[in-house]
Amino acid sequence: MTRILSTDVIEETVRSLFLSCAFRLPDKVKAHLALALEKENSAEGRSILSTLIKNHGLAQDAAIPLCQDTGLAQILIELGQEVSLVGRPLSEAVSNGAKAAYGVGYLRKSTCHPLERNNRGDNSPASLETLIVPGDQITVIVLAKGGGCDNKCRMVNLVPTTSKESIIKTIVSLALEAGPDACPPYCLGVAVGGSFESAPRLARRALVDLWEDPPMSPEESDLAETILTQINASGLGPMGLGGRVTALGLRLKLYPCHLASLPVAVNVNCHSLRTARATF
Ligand code: SF4
Repeated sequence: MTRILSTDVIEETVRSLFLSCAFRLPDKVKAHLALALEKENSAEGRSILSTLIKNHGLAQDAAIPLCQDTGLAQILIELGQEVSLVGRPLSEAVSNGAKAAYGVGYLRKSTCHPLERNNRGDNSPASLETLIVPGDQITVIVLAKGGGCDNKCRMVNLVPTTSKESIIKTIVSLALEAGPDACPPYCLGVAVGGSFESAPRLARRALVDLWEDPPMSPEESDLAETILTQINASGLGPMGLGGRVTALGLRLKLYPCHLASLPVAVNVNCHSLRTARATF
């Protein structure tokens, strides 16, 4: 039976999720920062991690943004095919929800004309990716993506004969090229496979699902662990000042690709992985 749902509900959900993730880091990110502090042995690294943890507590308690860059509004929606939406168009509802959050939360508006650089004043447009899935539920996932780390996301097309070792080397190198500008320790989403169009989307999905279920396949997990270990052995460390913890976590997605291609996409996010989700 078709479930009727007003897009007003989605608008309100987007608004409240962005407000939540602007001030409150997901528990799993906080837990990994605490683990990072236990592992880190450099004095500078420990000092930075302690400051980040303190900053997250202050932001949550005082309802002030986790960072001055409150990010671009990115939204992913999994829409059950048994849901019939009524009301304003979905894209408009989502956009209104994001604009409302950045307005009422006094979050910095960061979108501007690409050439004139004048600020649009409302952080629009939000980006929306919609997947139609089985069932009558909707999952809304939001990501507030900072500019410093978004600048460091990369996609390359490797030759299809590239060895697994070279693929690993490429991903490690792309992640480390982000350097201090992307505010390490990073959270990383990686896609190996797909296409020029889908690989970055898959990498972003891996990022927002970093510590979510379902877990990666054993093959993905082994590859992710090897890459993460090499990134953390680099010595770049928190904020690039040296140390053991350069990345908090990495999720990797393997996906079929054209036999003439081997796309690799790396979505670099800073330690401030501001994502939140709701299913209803
Ligand atoms: S990369 Fe992240 S922590 Fe660094 S300024 Fe941007 S949003 Fe803030």
